[in-house]
Amino acid sequence: MSHVAIVGGGWAGIAAAVALADAGHDITVFEMAPQLGGRARSVAGEPPYDNGQHILIGAYRDSLALMRRLGIDPNAVLKRLPLALPYPGEPGLQLPPGPPLIAFARGVLAQHGWPLSARLGLLTAAGGWLARGFRCDTRLSVAELCARLPAAVKRDLIEPLCVAALNTPAPQASAQVFLRVLKDALFSGAGSADLLLPRRPLSELLAGPATAWLGERLRLASRVQKIEPCWRVDGEAFDGVVLACTSVEAARLTADIAPAWSATAGALGFEPIITVYLSSPGSALPAPMLALREGPDAPAQFVFDHGALGGAPGRFAFVVSGAAAWVKRGGCAEAVLAQAQRELSWATPPVIDKVLTEKRATFACTPGLARAPARIAPGLWAAGDYIAGPYPATLEGAVRAGLAAAQGVGAEAGMAAKGAASGSPTNTP
Ligand SMILES: Cc1cc2nc3c(=O)[nH]c(=O)nc-3n(C[C@H](O)[C@H](O)[C@H](O)COP(=O)(O)OP(=O)(O)OC[C@H]3O[C@@H](n4cnc5c(N)ncnc54)[C@H](O)[C@@H]3O)c2cc1C
Repeated sequence: MSHVAIVGGGWAGIAAAVALADAGHDITVFEMAPQLGGRARSVAGEPPYDNGQHILIGAYRDSLALMRRLGIDPNAVLKRLPLALPYPGEPGLQLPPGPPLIAFARGVLAQHGWPLSARLGLLTAAGGWLARGFRCDTRLSVAELCARLPAAVKRDLIEPLCVAALNTPAPQASAQVFLRVLKDALFSGAGSADLLLPRRPLSELLAGPATAWLGERLRLASRVQKIEPCWRVDGEAFDGVVLACTSVEAARLTADIAPAWSATAGALGFEPIITVYLSSPGSALPAPMLALREGPDAPAQFVFDHGALGGAPGRFAFVVSGAAAWVKRGGCAEAVLAQAQRELSWATPPVIDKVLTEKRATFACTPGLARAPARIAPGLWAAGDYIAGPYPATLEGAVRAGLAAAQGVGAEAGMAAKGAASGSPTNTP
């Protein structure tokens, strides 16, 4: 049996740990924080806050399977809603149930908030993307890809979807990655576009059950300082290692042993997300999630009603994605409060409850971005939402990277363990 170290216990590390253990490997998970979950964790409060509002979609196949594997029923912890982008006072785009292509066409044609020419323009563009297999020039930005779409479609659909999925504003966001998200969400199986909104604190979705499942194989509050070849983690010998920490930490840990990989991982830029929680006892939104129109004095693109999601009544999470300009400018929470007062109706005056700013929420998903590959060296693999792949930084991207790393390192660590038993080690970088 081989012994594999997993460094980092976010969704990527948890996915890798479970897959490796299920394949019969002995595992040890090192997590520097006092809890698992990484960026998708709860933050102290009564009830707990989420470290940023998270949305899953029906297409998150591997994340949902991982939850089930750990005994979590996705239907119990997530509220499934057909994709809809209502704005205050406007129904917005709503996808009816049914086969994806037909549902998309019907939903767009029924969006009477847009002129008929805009609806037909979107359907024509989507038909073109479909015909080209959702591929485009990798140097294109989302703004360039959609330049000829009607302004209302860009404002009400493309720009909010882009910043929500890629956490990068359309003029800077990769069109190729955006098309891949559209393909998987809107044009794969029935229900793949459904929104899955957490109805329990974020840590209960995966991290809490994973903590119990790992038991003594988990070392919390253990920040790995050094990785040495063949492989030693802070001096302790393993047959293989999965680096499931952040790209910044992975770059630090590999600087001496794999400088080229380290340089690629370390070169990523980041985009912040600011989550502003407002409190307004007795208030409720017309839907659990509303889209908002972003503007120079209106930072938030979405708002979530936690009371409607089974959380704290009167708690509202306003999401400011692609928030670099607001981090620089300051005053985001006050601007969100003013936006909320202008655009929504309240039973009691809303007040700022909590502000969470994640400066490195996700990597900036720009055109032609060089992302580090999963394999660093024989027996040393990386997992995380930033690893080369078709997805932007998402829970599903992290889980899939964890599964891929587990498969790769599992095979190599197994060979190394056999080699060590026969006196000829095989994991030499
Ligand atoms: C505010 C916000 C909102 C988001 N919204 C969404 C959303 O709606 N939908 C969606 O799909 N995704 C969303 N994301 C992205 C999603 O949270 C991430 O893609 C995902 O959590 C990344 O998981 P990971 O395991 O790759 O990395 P991380 O979660 O960053 O995990 C890395 C772990 O490694 C640990 N670590 C680092 N260094 C070391 C070390 N040296 N030793 C030991 N441990 C170490 C860290 O403590 C951390 O726990 C959001 C992110 C943020 C911040």
